[in-house]
Amino acid sequence: MSESARPRAAVVGSMNTDLVVHCARLPRPGETVLGEDVVRMAGGKGGNQAAALARLGVTTSVVSCVGRDELGEWLTATLAEAGADTSLIQHSSRPTGTAFITVDDAGENEIVVSPGANAELDLAHVDLDPFDLVLAQMEVSAEIIDELARRTSSLVLNVAPARPVSPATLLRCAVVIANELEAEHLVLRELAHCVVTRGAGGAVHYSFGEVIADVSAPEVDAVDTVGAGDVFCAAYSSRYLAHDDPTAALRFAVTAGAMATLATGAQGSLPTTEEVQQWLDRAS
Ligand code: ADP
Repeated sequence: MSESARPRAAVVGSMNTDLVVHCARLPRPGETVLGEDVVRMAGGKGGNQAAALARLGVTTSVVSCVGRDELGEWLTATLAEAGADTSLIQHSSRPTGTAFITVDDAGENEIVVSPGANAELDLAHVDLDPFDLVLAQMEVSAEIIDELARRTSSLVLNVAPARPVSPATLLRCAVVIANELEAEHLVLRELAHCVVTRGAGGAVHYSFGEVIADVSAPEVDAVDTVGAGDVFCAAYSSRYLAHDDPTAALRFAVTAGAMATLATGAQGSLPTTEEVQQWLDRAS
């Protein structure tokens, strides 16, 4: 396919640095505990989904905002390495978004997210016309999501993390993607297309409340389910752009999501389209 004929996607969302420290037990308020070495990981739902989409071979532009700091440069370089176009990433005087994550021996965690530069994302000078699909999540302001829904008819909105979205915005989406908890806030019968993920149970596609596809996930020995939802959204979007039928699109997306659970880190285990296809071929 020529470069100009290839579908183009924009991912509009957050870029965060995840700073993770393991400790024997979480500190109580006012208490200090000693932890292990800090692990730095690229994160933010926007960054995760953009990296996953680029890795799947889709021409992907990232629309996001980072600080003019070392972490912003590092996150941008990470996305460029995954194959995404980073030329639309904006820069703010506020610090790059950072998630401070503490995990104890039992796997229990405490997370503080500082959105920082993510709150400064501005779409005024972003041309959305060249994109065949715009994929967004809820880690940017509600105003940004409303504006996207007004400006493009090809918005795939992942309503994660769960936050209120105006009904008018939801109705304008081409597809809404939610996990089971997030779906509790949606009126499924009003949405033309809504995909609900069910963890190991796979995913269901509803059209105006009717199930039009229902696919279970392949059985895997999941190591880390963080980021599986992001890979699912990217994989579903890649098949949406390829005009797959609903069942084929879900089958591909649940397989990619399951594959993402096999390694730790949200951007550390991103499958290519060929790798997902090989799994599907083996299973059939
Ligand atoms: P989120 O992580 O956003 O809460 P889910 O838990 O529903 O979303 O997972 C999204 C997708 O990731 C699922 O549809 C499935 O494809 C895959 N997945 C997640 N957990 C598992 C698991 N334990 N086994 C197999 N696939 C999984």
